[in-house]
Amino acid sequence: MDKTKHIALVAHDGKKKELVEWCDKNKEVLKNHFLCGTGTTARLISDRTGLPVKGYNSGPLGGDQQIGSRIVEGAIDFLIFLWDPLESQPHDPDVKALLRIAVVYDIPVANNLATADFLLNSSYMSGEYERTVENFNVTIQERVQKLK
Ligand code: PGA
Repeated sequence: MDKTKHIALVAHDGKKKELVEWCDKNKEVLKNHFLCGTGTTARLISDRTGLPVKGYNSGPLGGDQQIGSRIVEGAIDFLIFLWDPLESQPHDPDVKALLRIAVVYDIPVANNLATADFLLNSSYMSGEYERTVENFNVTIQERVQKLK
């Protein structure tokens, strides 16, 4: 990942206020990075901070999956995802899928503000970082050989 990170921001309804306030508090740092998020979260952050935040669909309408696919494509470096531990979500499978794909692609993920604070204050934020991602083309080649 480059110095300028592509950061995805997602918060469930019970956590939106927390994330919006955190983004506002940290906007001097965040303005140096590319921001995106699920529809409602992105809009709330952008309205509050004045920063550009690319909005995908709302989470329950596929926004989590869109962000997951951008991670697969290598277009997102960093995820702040405040999921609500006290509420069940209609799109729970999508939430799980996003968290899983972030691990597969070795993406730093913050699921609470303390972790977000640690990540944002990491020296890697202003430098480059190499993630460890399995070479899936090799894996596919090996699997094809084995399964033929
Ligand atoms: P939202 O989606 O930002 O559109 O509310 C978040 C989510 O529930 O995943």
